[in-house]
Amino acid sequence: MNEQNEKICLNCNRTESQIPLLTLSFKGDANYICPQCLPVLIHKTHTLADKLPGMEIVPTAAQ
Ligand SMILES: [Zn+2]
Repeated sequence: MNEQNEKICLNCNRTESQIPLLTLSFKGDANYICPQCLPVLIHKTHTLADKLPGMEIVPTAAQ
């Protein structure tokens, strides 16, 4: 289990002591992602679906 107090990027699991993290607010929970993983969240959201329970994946025609 993750430490509740430790902020980690939900994609690469780096901590805020290693890289600046952006806060994501989702369904009342705070999650964190680093700038390097932000494109993943934007363009490959489905790859993070298991990290964000309850997230709806909207298929995009471009893929
Ligand atoms: Zn990351």
